[in-house]
Amino acid sequence: MSARILDGKALAARIRAGIRDEVAAGVAAGRPRPGLATVLVGDDPASHIYVRNKRRACEEVGFTNFHFELPAATERAELLARIAELNRDPAVHGILVQLPLPAAIDEQEVLLAVDPAKDADGFHPRNQGALLQGAAGLRPCTPRGVMALIDETGIELRGRRAVVVGRSNIVGKPVALMLLERHATVTICHSRTADLAAEVAAADVVVAAVGVAKLIQGDWIRPGAVVIDVGMNRDEAGRLCGDVDYAAAAERAGWITPVPGGVGPMTIAMLLRNTLDAAWSGYQP
Ligand code: NDP
Repeated sequence: MSARILDGKALAARIRAGIRDEVAAGVAAGRPRPGLATVLVGDDPASHIYVRNKRRACEEVGFTNFHFELPAATERAELLARIAELNRDPAVHGILVQLPLPAAIDEQEVLLAVDPAKDADGFHPRNQGALLQGAAGLRPCTPRGVMALIDETGIELRGRRAVVVGRSNIVGKPVALMLLERHATVTICHSRTADLAAEVAAADVVVAAVGVAKLIQGDWIRPGAVVIDVGMNRDEAGRLCGDVDYAAAAERAGWITPVPGGVGPMTIAMLLRNTLDAAWSGYQP
């Protein structure tokens, strides 16, 4: 058996095109043009690339982008004051503070300072709490992208066994809660899981969010399973690869996401979706 490929690049492009049409129609009908503020502190080269891609995506769908670049030595108070200003600005509907922040700044304090109604990344504890309680809120982007990819397969999640490998606050835990919300029977695995192979082998849906190249072996995969690989790692040859041994897993899986071109492009599409929701849904946590 050879898996069908879940093409995140194509799905993300469709989602972005849909958002662009919605924005054009909504703005023509008098709705406010969605605005996303991007805040970049310091000179981490990867962060610069991520933010540039996010800004470009924003402009392509017709959002306004407000961009702020602050030096690595920025004082905590100055960053908090900037965020407070963005919280008050009615033209700004979403605020994205690119992580990681310089070591001297407390990330948690900064995330808490963002108005939960403008929390485009869905990282504020109020939004994470809303997810935990099954209430309306802005969901984190990568997990939202994972769910959209699973939905592409057309499988009914209700009653299925889902295994999430990884329990971070930004991927593993929220994905697990979103699968639970959809009535899957969810197992969360992590570095202390006793028999990862056995857990994965029982899964109808596997979501790998670990950060270890090819940790998930192909022969662990249950025949026909849906495999979503969030990992972004480098293999021995320096090529980008996921947490799943793709070639071997694709022999057994029913559906699988490639790396690159799977979950990665979905994250930005969902950042745009969150910003649009924040602008127009009237969500007030
Ligand atoms: P974290 O490092 O925060 O979390 C990794 C998780 O994996 C932890 O819960 C850890 O367990 C678990 N883990 C580590 N080693 C093992 C192991 N040997 N067996 C089982 N579990 C293990 O990572 P993130 O959640 O932030 O990211 C995960 C991956 O996803 C990374 O490769 C990252 O680059 C990628 N990523 C991709 C995105 C995208 O847009 N495509 C977005 C965000 C992340 P424990 O808790 O016990 O330490």
